[in-house]
Amino acid sequence: MAHTVTLIPGDGTGPELAEATRRVLEATGVELDWDEHPAGEDVYREEGTPFPERTLESIKRNRVGIKGPTTTPVGSGFRSVNVLLRKELDLYSCIRPCKAYEGVRTRFPETDIVIVRENTEDLYAGIEFEKDSAAAEDLRRFLEELDATARIREHSGISIKPISVYGSERIVRSAFDYARANGRGKVTAAHKANIMKFSDGLFLEVAREVAKDYDDVEFEDRIIDNLCNQLVSRPEEYDVIVLPNLYGDIVSDLGAGMIGGLGLAPGGNIGTEAAMFEATHGSAPKYKGLNRVNPTALMLSGVLMLRHLDEREAADRLEAAIAEVIRKGERVTYDLKPSRDDPTAVGTSEFADAVIEQLDAA
Ligand code: NAD
Repeated sequence: MAHTVTLIPGDGTGPELAEATRRVLEATGVELDWDEHPAGEDVYREEGTPFPERTLESIKRNRVGIKGPTTTPVGSGFRSVNVLLRKELDLYSCIRPCKAYEGVRTRFPETDIVIVRENTEDLYAGIEFEKDSAAAEDLRRFLEELDATARIREHSGISIKPISVYGSERIVRSAFDYARANGRGKVTAAHKANIMKFSDGLFLEVAREVAKDYDDVEFEDRIIDNLCNQLVSRPEEYDVIVLPNLYGDIVSDLGAGMIGGLGLAPGGNIGTEAAMFEATHGSAPKYKGLNRVNPTALMLSGVLMLRHLDEREAADRLEAAIAEVIRKGERVTYDLKPSRDDPTAVGTSEFADAVIEQLDAA
């Protein structure tokens, strides 16, 4: 049976990356019906919204989608499509595998980790009080009345860090479920529970409870600073890592750097109602229309999507074909060449051609 998938090409380099990804996904032989809809800067210019209702309706209907990056212009008053998507669809779990493929230049060739980031709460909940605002002053007074030691200096900006039992439980379960479904043996919960006892401490307490339901998967925890230190000294000791929102954001970029760069880092945002797959990187607007950027991150996001659709054999074949093209290092984009101005670098669509030939040859 064909899978109907929402395809959002995005803007900047998004459309060329999405086209390369669509072609390799089709070349796996899995039947995919694309329900294509716009989001981002281009549709904002035409329709006054970066995220039209029909795009949201399509994802709600199909429950699965793949998206090219979208630009969020600074200071335009236009909200990030990614934030809107996460909020509208409650995509609470961000899964970012970081695997160093052979042939990529990295100091961390043993890296093969999966970062599972909570997407909805923590310091990114958007509960903030501006310096000197009436609300910030009320809050400062209220806290001092509540607890005389809870003093905040005047002229402070305040961001609130909520972490709930509900939010922690579902993200930790999502990490263990991912580990089980993908044959991974260990989940590490990262936190700063020694300092933030009632937020990160709660996250850790819930993680320990949830771990009891998964006795086939090992569980451990690490303080976030120690985790960063260990990731760059002994990456091979880590497997699936589950983190609250802020740490997850930072460690995801650390992981992308460890595997050779943003052009290689895929992602999936998963919720109860829908799942949206996209690269970690942005729209790289300076390369728009140049057929230059690396489509690997979006193609690997497509691999995650195939696994989500339970097309595991096709997913494994596509991942192997991408890995082989990278290992050979011939028909790869500039960022995977020893020097960025290497004249043998190929373009986005020629990289897709190489992957398709590799798929056909296997
Ligand atoms: P970016 O990831 O778009 O690009 C930064 C640099 O990384 C590029 O100039 C390029 O050198 C390199 N790069 C990124 N992707 C690459 C690829 N596939 N192949 C080769 N090199 C690649 O980050 P930015 O410039 O900070 O953001 C540009 C826009 O993208 C902003 O508007 C930002 O808000 C948006 N953004 C969108 C998403 C998303 O849609 N998921 C994510 C992050 C940023």
